[in-house]
Amino acid sequence: MAARTGKEFLERLSQSRPTVHIQGETLTEGIQEHPAFRNVVQTYAELYDLQHSDEHKDVLTYISPTSGEPVGTSFLTPKAPDDLVKRRKAFKVWADHSNGMLGRTGDYMNSSLMALASAADWFAQANPDFGENIRRYYEKAREEDLLCTHTLIPPQVNRAVAGTQQAGGKLAARIVKEDDNGVVIRGARMLATIAPFADEMLVFPSTVLRGTPEDKPYSYAFAIPNDTPGLRYIAREPLDYDRPRHDHPLASRFEESDCVVVFDDVHVPFERCFALGDAELCNGFYSQTSSVVHMTHQVVTRTTAKTEYVLGLVSLLTDAIGIEQFQHVQEDIAEIITTLETLRAFLRAAEADAEVNEYGVLTPAWAPLNAARNLYPKLYQRFPQILRKLGASGLMATPTELDITGPAAADIEAYLQSATLTGPERVKLFRLVWDTCISAFSSRQALYEYYFFGDPVRMAGAYVKSYDREPYRAKVQAFLERS
Ligand SMILES: Cc1cc2nc3c(=O)[nH]c(=O)nc-3n(C[C@H](O)[C@H](O)[C@H](O)COP(=O)(O)OP(=O)(O)OC[C@H]3O[C@@H](n4cnc5c(N)ncnc54)[C@H](O)[C@@H]3O)c2cc1C
Repeated sequence: MAARTGKEFLERLSQSRPTVHIQGETLTEGIQEHPAFRNVVQTYAELYDLQHSDEHKDVLTYISPTSGEPVGTSFLTPKAPDDLVKRRKAFKVWADHSNGMLGRTGDYMNSSLMALASAADWFAQANPDFGENIRRYYEKAREEDLLCTHTLIPPQVNRAVAGTQQAGGKLAARIVKEDDNGVVIRGARMLATIAPFADEMLVFPSTVLRGTPEDKPYSYAFAIPNDTPGLRYIAREPLDYDRPRHDHPLASRFEESDCVVVFDDVHVPFERCFALGDAELCNGFYSQTSSVVHMTHQVVTRTTAKTEYVLGLVSLLTDAIGIEQFQHVQEDIAEIITTLETLRAFLRAAEADAEVNEYGVLTPAWAPLNAARNLYPKLYQRFPQILRKLGASGLMATPTELDITGPAAADIEAYLQSATLTGPERVKLFRLVWDTCISAFSSRQALYEYYFFGDPVRMAGAYVKSYDREPYRAKVQAFLERS
């Protein structure tokens, strides 16, 4: 098969039978028709269609080494600098389509799978079958253009004790049985975004395990179809209220569902397992395979697209109400520009300093990408603050599309005009600003960016521990000793 079209994506989804609990209802089919999902599913279909558009197909696809068909560029194993550039350009096309608001487009997990499969020998250390399994799975995902999501962390019950100790070890998803064909998983994982309409669920290592015997049942990596028997999703309340595009311009397109994942004795065949019972190996899953680097390359490209969007939005807003000449307004705009240029510089440095890893994959430099992923969760929080401050009461003078065409039309035309826009144009712009900085959708975006790579506090701890500061200590020590 080749890179999918939107129609093919929807056809596969119509065959899928995931169990999804949502607002008191249990769905086992019809995800793409349900009001909570149909709009975002349509947006995902548009992404797949872009792979076939005259404008983007050369960037979004490459020729599969096995089938000779065009397949998604995010599956491309980079060997030369041009490959990294092509990968980044492909990430950018998809990210621009949602202004960076979609966090789980296929290219995110495809990047991870590409790196994991290249490091098949690393998986084979534990068992040669695992090396073969990850290689085969990556090829399947590439040739079928699967949409994968992942679930990593144990449920948030009591963070004072390890995941393995929650409710006497009877809560977090764990291996409860092994049979001739595979393992049985029971328990829960905290969250998986887009689970209802993904094709596959990657159940990958969670927080750092300590490698003690108790960790064994919690140490695994596998992939299963999202409608595997016994797998259930509990979706949060949808933020797409099925309102017109005009009124909820972002939520009516980009509302990715987040779901708690329950494993009710889910059977996972051995051929779908990549690691089992080996905590030490699970701890190195992302770093030893370079998977985290390629995932971050995609994420920083997406957050660059998102920052470009915010800069464009704030510029239209300040033009509209004539506030650009005020110095504090310029200071805020400068902050967004600085963030954008910082992200661009990180991407450029990561690609310029890329090196071939031990598995022959050209891997972007980790230091700039690691800096970017530590910065953005906090930098993003400023964007809604700035938009709220500069939009002020204009963010409340936002009647709906029905008002614009209804009895209030003349008032809106007269009183809601701005320095550069007619009344209806200004309302349309300010509704977009509202959906970026005030609506429930925007709050979820801010939370998402904050926790995208995990808790920034603990990430900072790991960052400090892993960063080689010896040369800098030595430098200052030498200065102290200079007479
Ligand atoms: C919108 C959204 C979508 C998500 N999508 C996914 C997904 O698709 N797949 C997935 O696997 N995960 C997903 N996540 C989960 C994400 O990975 C976690 O939010 C993140 O790892 C932080 O873990 P937590 O939420 O359990 O917070 P907790 O670990 O419970 O932390 C809560 C608070 O307590 C503090 N705290 C807790 N323990 C410690 C400690 N040991 N040391 C110091 N401070 C501590 C934290 O600093 C934080 O302030 C998503 C999260 C959000 C918000």
